[in-house]
Amino acid sequence: MSEATVETCTSNCSTCGKDCASRTSPQSLRKAHHELARVGRVYGVVSGKGGVGKSMVTSQLAVLLRRRGYAVGVMDADVTGPSIPQAFGIHEKATGTENALFPCVSKGGVQVMSINVLLDDETDPVIWRGPVIGGVVQQFWTDVLWDVDYLMVDMPPGTGDVSLNVFQQLPLDGIIVVTSPQELVSMVVEKAVKMAEKMDVPIVGLVENMSFLACPDCGKRISLFGEGKTEDAARRHGLALLARMPIDPALAKLVDEGKIEELQSSALEPVADVIAAR
Ligand code: ADP
Repeated sequence: MSEATVETCTSNCSTCGKDCASRTSPQSLRKAHHELARVGRVYGVVSGKGGVGKSMVTSQLAVLLRRRGYAVGVMDADVTGPSIPQAFGIHEKATGTENALFPCVSKGGVQVMSINVLLDDETDPVIWRGPVIGGVVQQFWTDVLWDVDYLMVDMPPGTGDVSLNVFQQLPLDGIIVVTSPQELVSMVVEKAVKMAEKMDVPIVGLVENMSFLACPDCGKRISLFGEGKTEDAARRHGLALLARMPIDPALAKLVDEGKIEELQSSALEPVADVIAAR
């Protein structure tokens, strides 16, 4: 190992871009962000499959962190099912220069980049394969002029090759795993844990979405899909179950109307606490 390398060696070849004689694993695919960008910490939000509320959690966390005064961005890496611009009421196109893209900015000041703000028609389907998606996400990292304390990444659903590919492009500081009690939670958590270990990214904790429904008349909590499965899975893997979010038609309405920044719910504040404390 050369002297220069000894000084900076983290003993973690998977996240190191240097090529030295001590390298024990292939060189990282990760590239530097744009030279004019500023990015603090990067957190990915993952799920076992689509439709469990990954985008809902990502956008709510961005809103909560923004309310705490941080500069926040959301990278919509769920390229085949982009829903972040809709949640923030963003329908304009991103602008750019020859070598940089400017993120769109929501009413409340959240910076957003998504394939939907680049497509001519946001209703066009995106039917690309994993490596192409990985390439797009890499450009969201290398070409976008982010200026953020926190960058929240809405990851592709699942733990397959599309997700892995995106994992390889981004220097994630942690991931938040969203589950729902309809799923085989223990299997989802186990897969997420294995993926995180493989990519050497810490798991911040779990969020159980659609945990219960509160009766609009008496307030009683009805757990439609049973209770305790996520808690068990979290305990088994030594992870924290940071929040449980109810099925709430008001939340779906906020997303549909592009008004997620008018969020009233505080269900995800404990997750924002953990992120802001890191
Ligand atoms: P994913 O990103 O995992 O595919 P989404 O966040 O897009 O899932 O959620 C799927 C749908 O369910 C969206 O229409 C969203 O508004 C709705 N949804 C998600 N979580 C909730 C919730 N807790 N209460 C009501 N609707 C929800």
